[in-house]
Amino acid sequence: MTLTIRTRLTIWYASLVMLILVVVCFGIVLSARWGLRHAADQELTSGIDGVAAFLNHKLGMNDMGNLNEELREHSSLLPRGKMFRVTRPDRTVVYQPDMMAVVPPIVPDPDNLRKESIEAKGRSYRTISRFAKVGPYLFLIQVAVDQTEYQELTTGLLWILLLSVPVAGLLSALAGYWMSGRVLSPIDQITKTTNSIDARSLSRRLPLLGTNDELDQLSITINRMLDRIATSYERIEQFTGDASHELRTPVALIRSNAELLLMLGDIQPNVRNGLADIIAESAYMTGLIGDLLTLARGAEEGKASPMELIELAEPVRSILDRARSLASTRDITVEYAPLSQIVPIRGNQAMIERVLMILIDNAIRYTPPHGRIQLETWVSEKGCGFLVSDNGIGIAPGDQNKIFERFFRVDAARTHGDGGYGLGLSIAKSLVDFHRGSIQVESELGQGSTFRIGFERGDVTRQLPVYQ
Ligand code: ADP
Repeated sequence: MTLTIRTRLTIWYASLVMLILVVVCFGIVLSARWGLRHAADQELTSGIDGVAAFLNHKLGMNDMGNLNEELREHSSLLPRGKMFRVTRPDRTVVYQPDMMAVVPPIVPDPDNLRKESIEAKGRSYRTISRFAKVGPYLFLIQVAVDQTEYQELTTGLLWILLLSVPVAGLLSALAGYWMSGRVLSPIDQITKTTNSIDARSLSRRLPLLGTNDELDQLSITINRMLDRIATSYERIEQFTGDASHELRTPVALIRSNAELLLMLGDIQPNVRNGLADIIAESAYMTGLIGDLLTLARGAEEGKASPMELIELAEPVRSILDRARSLASTRDITVEYAPLSQIVPIRGNQAMIERVLMILIDNAIRYTPPHGRIQLETWVSEKGCGFLVSDNGIGIAPGDQNKIFERFFRVDAARTHGDGGYGLGLSIAKSLVDFHRGSIQVESELGQGSTFRIGFERGDVTRQLPVYQ
């Protein structure tokens, strides 16, 4: 599955925001816990010092008799929630309140404090213990505080923060989707414009937003690349044009010389056949060179050809006789039913006639004898144009979008014996494109083909199209 950049950016953005939030949540809760424990440790340490000082005080007063009672009274002096236990090294208890009984004793190294966080009976305690030497006596003093409530508080805080992560993730996904849409919309524009540029519109360029950012740089780079492609393309067209032009004269010379030789009376049959072949081949080459020249010089010819306001049916009327006499050689009839309406178009009559002749020529070539070709003009609210239909061999669906390519012929194995070079439809398309029109085919194998040409309706006030 391929994800769009927009979706990927959104996923990345939302995931990163959620990850950062999780880290921040844990950071907040852990530092809160550390702070609370640090404060408790300070209070507990001073609590131990207080008990040790109290015992020293009692020793000084020689009053070590009823330590249990004395310590109970002293315990009320400790901060709220703190409690302590005093034992002798042999673990006999000197003083221990009831609540301290649940806290297990922890024995430190001599001269050291020992700090522990422990769980007992479902509650959490922080406890510190150390030995205190009071005159000849050695006591183990252990102080503790119940931190269960703080634990519950910080755990609750952690849950609240963690539950806010998906909500924040959803909000950041929406924000990310919107932001990436805004950032990527110029790329969409670049893609659409680049897609619309083909060999016939190589002079078109991507618009620059003027922001001079990365996307503008991309457009500038693509435009420079198009400049280079256009230059190379023009050179190729120029070369094809020049080469075809140069070939025309020698081929015409070969043909006329062969025809002259053929006119000589006493030539052997095999020489005659050879000359006939030369004439047929050079006739074929003359046609091919002519078509190549038309394609290569399309732009120049276009510039020289005037666009006029003409009547849609005019080109059909003009070629009808030629088409009928061509078709009659193969016993094919050409029908034409004129529209009752007069429809104006802006175009070049000679070019439109050429398009119609290419289509009729093909229809004759690919329709068996006694077939039927139908010529129609059509008009709708927005457009108008021509239909050229035949009941010939038809074109397979897979070939229908290829037939407008240069040198494409459906049956590649066919020789040029039928006079085709695979250039007719690409010439027709380039002439229709020149008029900013469209050409499409509908066809079924064995049933026939219909070519539909569409133009904009002529508007007297409209600017003439400029050839690009
Ligand atoms: P060609 O010189 O071979 O006719 P075109 O460019 O005019 O070259 O046509 C390309 C191919 O399209 C032809 O080789 C032919 O196979 C197919 N084609 C064109 N017109 C028709 C049609 N009316 N009926 C059937 N096939 C057609």
